[in-house]
Amino acid sequence: MANHLYKQAFDGAVIATSYAEILLNQAIKEHGEDTPVCYPDTAYKLPVITALSGEDVKTLKDLVPILNRIRVTNVKEDLTLEGAKTNGEAAFYAAEIIEALRYLKGQNPHVKPWTGFLADPVLRKFGIQLVDFTIPGVAVIIGKAKDSKAAARLIKELQSKGIMLMLCNEIIEQLLEENVKLGIDYIAFPLGNFTQAIHAVNFALRGGLAFGGITPGNKAAQLEYQRNRVRAFVLALGEQDEVRIAAEFGAIMLGFPVITDQPIAEEVPDWYVYQPDYEKIVPYSLELRGIKLKIVDINVPITIGPAFEGETVRGADAYVEFGGGRTTAFELVKMVGPDEIEDGKITVVGPEIDDIEEGSKLPLGIYVKIYGRKMQPDFEGVLERRVHYFVNYGEGLWHVAQRDIAWVRINKDAHAKGFKFRHFGEILIAKYKSEFPAIVDRVEVIIYTDKEQVEERIKEARAAYHQRDERLRGLTDESVDVFYSCTLCQSFAPNHVCVVAPERVGLCGAVSWLDAKASFEITPTGPNQPIKKEGTIDENKGIWRSVNEFVYNSSNRTLEEVALYTLMELPMTSCGCFEAIMAMVPEANGLMITTREHSGMTPCGMTFSTLAGSVGGGVQSPGFMGIGKRYIVSKKFIKADGGLGRIIWMPKDLKDFLREDFIKRSVEEGLGEDFIDKVADESVGTDTEQILSFLEEKGHPALTMDPLF
Ligand code: SF4
Ligand code: ZN
Repeated sequence: MANHLYKQAFDGAVIATSYAEILLNQAIKEHGEDTPVCYPDTAYKLPVITALSGEDVKTLKDLVPILNRIRVTNVKEDLTLEGAKTNGEAAFYAAEIIEALRYLKGQNPHVKPWTGFLADPVLRKFGIQLVDFTIPGVAVIIGKAKDSKAAARLIKELQSKGIMLMLCNEIIEQLLEENVKLGIDYIAFPLGNFTQAIHAVNFALRGGLAFGGITPGNKAAQLEYQRNRVRAFVLALGEQDEVRIAAEFGAIMLGFPVITDQPIAEEVPDWYVYQPDYEKIVPYSLELRGIKLKIVDINVPITIGPAFEGETVRGADAYVEFGGGRTTAFELVKMVGPDEIEDGKITVVGPEIDDIEEGSKLPLGIYVKIYGRKMQPDFEGVLERRVHYFVNYGEGLWHVAQRDIAWVRINKDAHAKGFKFRHFGEILIAKYKSEFPAIVDRVEVIIYTDKEQVEERIKEARAAYHQRDERLRGLTDESVDVFYSCTLCQSFAPNHVCVVAPERVGLCGAVSWLDAKASFEITPTGPNQPIKKEGTIDENKGIWRSVNEFVYNSSNRTLEEVALYTLMELPMTSCGCFEAIMAMVPEANGLMITTREHSGMTPCGMTFSTLAGSVGGGVQSPGFMGIGKRYIVSKKFIKADGGLGRIIWMPKDLKDFLREDFIKRSVEEGLGEDFIDKVADESVGTDTEQILSFLEEKGHPALTMDPLF
């Protein structure tokens, strides 16, 4: 028995809860017991308390009985693994209370790059990457590595494997010292110090609340969810103290093993183990938590991983730049016959990076030939869009847009490490083969940097884009006889099913009908299954017998019917990673839409995060629905409810994002070119009175449409 550790966990729980009590009493004295207490931008209040016991904490005085209860029920000198977990839970409550006090009166105590509390939009942003295993796991690293170089190496190793990082204590300074890039964009969250580690826990627990649809206070379901679905582990580095050890047993309660580089008197097999060797600690931890990686060896001198997708390369840091309106650039994926391709071949036509000076701007053509026995012309676009992600995953590479508006930079660091243009080819070939093995048999890449050649080849590319767009225009819900399901998010939202149709992208915005079709070819037993369109029940509302049957069977029999074209009746469910949410606004006889990026208030009296808290978890909530942004400009956009003309409010940024297509669709719907200006946004206000008078003044069509109810 690891008595010593268990004793420390008990001592830690005593210290943590006493400390919480002192701070809570001080706060009550200073601010008054009726001072509201909450974290910023979350629908889950104090997530540890919401998830584990379900109390609705509103003000400081609500925390008093909770802390008292925990001291009585959890803090006990029970020197068993179960006892240590119970003490760990007490440390969680204490840490949550201590942290929440830092946010009183709307304060945000964090200076960049420290993040402190991670708001709901951050959680939702990474939903898809967690479910599709782009991010295969989460490492919570607490303490201080043996030296800063070792810390940086450790992080690099985890990042190259795509692991999400939650960091706490001195390791953050060690990494900053080594210029390791940290922050939300790098999926490496420097939470803070000491009790701020709790923000990793309240992130994980919100996974269960937001995606899993677990009700507040259902601790058993929450623990099961964490154990089975959240692939996290804890690295406890450097000197430990009792409070930390207690919290580490809290992690063990959630099913996350703890690996420490400090000698311990006795290990708790499978749960609390010693591994001093930094070369071994990562593979050892992954194995312990059962995290399996797709190993892709890419022969390039830079690190490749999703952690670098959000990295930007500013103009001043660029060694070389392509496209972006400064030079001509394009990318094209072309399906070819077996004789037109030499598998694995990479050619650079024009200057290589060694032939140019720092700060150059070059034209670029990325031309990818693909042959596959099961390849189809329809998949060219699906594969071509991946160029963006694959290139962006490279550290020091930056890629925006696509097709003939692509814009690419290589930073000075990557150049110094020996990155060459031909390495674009290495990345693309390795990635296409590993991610699309069923449709991609051979890949060849030609990188054009020669001006004349780029100008010549871009003609072929443009012809191909044009042809594809024509094909897409013809692709309507009526023109196909199958839709596709997507159940990828079931690993987090077990009852959720997306029905993906040509004119309705999955609510994450990342899975179109063509994507789903390609994915079905790649993995016939995977998350995207064809649903034959049979047994029309209501054409206008978009209800089919076969779709209902499919949804029923794959939602664990929780959902009997779904209507594709309405918000008001049997709407599609939401998992949690929706790009936008729409909600009815009865006063205006219309609906509003807000996005994950928009943190402000909306006319229905809720922010995105609060709204999101009430639509997720795979349940139908008529009048509210999570959607992909592109669905708004689809001809099938809530067509049974009156379509586009129902929109009375959306954030400016969303208007700008959709503008061109929105105007086109407005004209098609007979709403006129200026309809977009009749839709209110945050500059008009979020108060329904204000909005109503704006809508009346502009003559908004929703006001005279059939009643929404
Ligand atoms: Fe998840 Fe739906 Fe997107 Fe599939 S389409 S990944 S189920 S949100
Ligand atoms: Zn999802």
